[in-house]
Amino acid sequence: MDLDKVIRKINSKNVRNVGLQFPEGLKMQAVSIAREIEEECDVNVIISGDPCFGACDVSDYKMKDSVDLIVHFGHTPLPIRYEVPTVFIEAFSNIDVKKDLKKCLESLKDYSRIALVTTTQHLHLLNEMKDFLEDNGKEVVLGSSKSTRKGQVLGCNFSSIKNLDADVFLFIGSGNFHPLGIYLFTKSPVYALDPYNNELREMTDYADRILRIRFARITKAREAKKWGIIVSSKEGQYRLELAKQIKKLLKDSGMEGFVIMVDNVNPDVLLPYFDLDAFVVTACPRIAIDDSQMYKKPLITPQELEIVLNKREWENYQLDEILFRRR
Ligand code: SF4
Repeated sequence: MDLDKVIRKINSKNVRNVGLQFPEGLKMQAVSIAREIEEECDVNVIISGDPCFGACDVSDYKMKDSVDLIVHFGHTPLPIRYEVPTVFIEAFSNIDVKKDLKKCLESLKDYSRIALVTTTQHLHLLNEMKDFLEDNGKEVVLGSSKSTRKGQVLGCNFSSIKNLDADVFLFIGSGNFHPLGIYLFTKSPVYALDPYNNELREMTDYADRILRIRFARITKAREAKKWGIIVSSKEGQYRLELAKQIKKLLKDSGMEGFVIMVDNVNPDVLLPYFDLDAFVVTACPRIAIDDSQMYKKPLITPQELEIVLNKREWENYQLDEILFRRR
């Protein structure tokens, strides 16, 4: 992380109070970074202790009366309005992915045009990876969009890879959600290279398994009559208009829908609503898919609700996405 940039930024402005915000994986560095900033700059530092999962979730509303500047670590900025001037400091993994790329060549031997895709942590390696694949006879393409950097996807936004002309997609990063999204949005072969455990996975079987789980949730949700429509108050996840449209859709289908606004969506905050049969979540699109097992009642995405209400064919199943707009 580029702390010199943080210190330069603070010293170049008339800043007295600085808020620091870290994703969970970087919070253990919060105290040492706060100490260094207070030693190098004449400011008070306030660390945001709330959970943070993305640039959709900057503490600007909560901290606006307490700080003049927020330093948000670990994510790239989104095209949304922040209430407090915010500096984004990317945190890059120092893992060497080149040796793993060598292993990919055998699996990719039948493909000539490869789309490279990754998340924030590995963006700095994209050019090196591209050069390596090109040196080995591959043509490499990188997608881009207004919500992401070149070659980057978010768990809630896959704009950069749609309409990308490639024979195969190679995702570099951990977890299955991003490569699952690439697979579902492109219908192309997708390989996921996890540099943390040196594993290369082809995504078809995983995607089939997730689709079976989603089909089961949708089938169960068809029994529901009373729905909770969850809206997140986080700036980048806030989709009240969509929630209102869903409420109307439910009403037109003879059902009840109640909008519930929360900050963090988790099973505990939904427990009191025992008289609701199912939930549709307009907050982070990952919640319904990644945390599915944690919820006793069906918790589905707006697109899945369309299938429940026979407004969308199962064959047109799609992940939810957030198209970022300023409030
Ligand atoms: S909405 Fe979800 S996937 Fe998108 S940036 Fe926020 S936490 Fe990440």
